[in-house]
Amino acid sequence: MKIQAINGFKDILPDSVGRWQLIEQRARDIFERFGLQEIRMPILEKTELFVRSIGEATDVVEKEMYTFADKGITMRPEATASIMRAFIEHGLHVQQPVQRLYTIGPMFRHERPQMGRLRQFHQLDAEIIGAVEPRIDAELIAMGQMLMDELDLTVSLELNSLGCPECRPPFKTALVAFLEQSIEGLCEDCKRRTHTNPLRVLDCKKPHCRALVQDAPSMLDALCPECDHHFREVQTALQALQIPFQINRFMVRGLDYYTRTTFEFLTTDLGAQAAVGAGGRYDGLIQSLGGPALSGIGFAMGLERIALLMEQQADSQPAGTVMDIFLAALGSDTLGPCSLLAHLLRKAGIKAAIDYSGRSLKAQLKQAGRVRARFTLIVGDEEWARQEGILRNMHTQEQQPFALSGSLEQQCLQLLQCLKTTTK
Ligand SMILES: [Zn+2]
Ligand SMILES: [Zn+2]
Repeated sequence: MKIQAINGFKDILPDSVGRWQLIEQRARDIFERFGLQEIRMPILEKTELFVRSIGEATDVVEKEMYTFADKGITMRPEATASIMRAFIEHGLHVQQPVQRLYTIGPMFRHERPQMGRLRQFHQLDAEIIGAVEPRIDAELIAMGQMLMDELDLTVSLELNSLGCPECRPPFKTALVAFLEQSIEGLCEDCKRRTHTNPLRVLDCKKPHCRALVQDAPSMLDALCPECDHHFREVQTALQALQIPFQINRFMVRGLDYYTRTTFEFLTTDLGAQAAVGAGGRYDGLIQSLGGPALSGIGFAMGLERIALLMEQQADSQPAGTVMDIFLAALGSDTLGPCSLLAHLLRKAGIKAAIDYSGRSLKAQLKQAGRVRARFTLIVGDEEWARQEGILRNMHTQEQQPFALSGSLEQQCLQLLQCLKTTTK
């Protein structure tokens, strides 16, 4: 019996890995333009880290975590909590009052697998820690938008504020009172959420829940003066950076630690409206994990969704590896020298392929096409005796004799010269 991958866990095959590499490279490049530095954390953390940061009554902690209960450890379901744990543990704020960090890697949640949502999924995660200014919120959001733009993706940006520990509790009380009045009309999940996590009812996707919450009180009307000021300043700063956005008062985040600014990059091109990336401010999180009283803001973007969206929206497929040269050694005398030649070329930074099977020229040219070689150097025993090969341009199919005189090192140099001077 064949062994297959686990449901919700997926291979990223060579023909699509080019897209992943492109996303990651572009993200690193843009994040670094904004002064972010990479941090890499372990995949396993103490379960308590996520219970305390994400919140006990959240879907993630209640039912989606991969936990080794007997060991008290969990496979990270998101990156922010781990970054904060590392930040506190190593006192990163001591060296640098404002830390700009990013990480790229796999996260794990036991959800029902669906398009663009896997149990092992991958995130780009960016955080700016230690800054409270609304312009920081705008800068971080603009960085996310820049990544979308540079990947040629069209998304809409939505913005909301979730208030702070001062203005959110009275709002929650008012919201619960409103929901209790119409509790019979809510779905089963929302009935339960009304008392465990009432904010989540606001973003329930079920039509009858959606209709009911249209008249619910809005957090935006309940913001305290400081939160209200912050939210207005974020909008002004986004306008100054020419980043278009819409306000969505029903947007909440699945994790408890968010305060004030929250935002999502949304698309309708993946079936139902889906978030490609989302984030927000988490001003009490670091302190609640035993760290200094520092605020922070961050976002996470889903690599699977970005890759899917690129398939949908972008016209060009990023090419996989293209080999510079294929060495077709046709005779028994040529195989030895050609294998060393391939090795020297690779040492010199050239992508060189070689076939050791001694197959026919036709078969080897076919193989050269499969690895998308730009050139093939054909060397048979007769040519080798004449110190000569045939260099074939695989694009134009033109062939010309190529002198293989002198030592292999010299031949390597001649080939390098030739590959460099020929335009791609
Ligand atoms: Zn407030
Ligand atoms: Zn509902």
